[in-house]
Amino acid sequence: MSGEQQTKEKSVKLADIFQCTRCGYCCQGETTVSLDADDQQRMMDKLGLNREEISRQYWRITGKVVQMQIREHHCIFYDEESGCSVHEGRPWRCGQWPLHPSIIADENNFQTIRSSCPGINQEISYETFCAIFKQLLDGDGRLIC
Ligand code: SF4
Ligand code: SF4
Repeated sequence: MSGEQQTKEKSVKLADIFQCTRCGYCCQGETTVSLDADDQQRMMDKLGLNREEISRQYWRITGKVVQMQIREHHCIFYDEESGCSVHEGRPWRCGQWPLHPSIIADENNFQTIRSSCPGINQEISYETFCAIFKQLLDGDGRLIC
C-alpha cells in the first residue's frame, strides 16, 4: 500500500496528538537511545564516516550495545542553536520519540512522558490519545505517518 493510500484511509494525523516544539529536552541526560544495525548504517552514510571513525568520534559501545556519546550532559549531536545536528541520520527511536508504544500499555507511562514533552497534545484525554496513536502505528509499533 502506498503512503498516499494510507493517508487517504486514515482519518487521523500525527499533529492531532503531537507536534515537536524542538525544546531539546529529550536529547539531554547521561544516556541515549541504542542504535540498531540500520541506524548505524544510516548514521555512517549521513556523516560519511566508516565504522572505526564513527565509533571513535561519536559512539559509545558497550558489548553489543551502540549508543551515542554524551557531551556536557547531552547527546553529542545536540546543538543548542540548531537542535539535532545529525537529523536525517538519527536513530529511528529518536524520530519516533515520544510516541513509544508503552504509552498504550500503561497510562502512567503516558503521564510521565507527557509531563516531560511539551510537544504532546496537552488538551486531549488518555483514551483519545491512545485511539489516535494506535491508528498511526504499524504491527511492529513503529509510526506509519
Ligand atoms: S521533548 Fe518533546 S517537544 Fe521537546 S524536542 Fe523532544 S520530542 Fe520535541
Ligand atoms: S541523535 Fe539527535 S534527536 Fe537523537 S538524541 Fe541525539 S541530538 Fe537528540
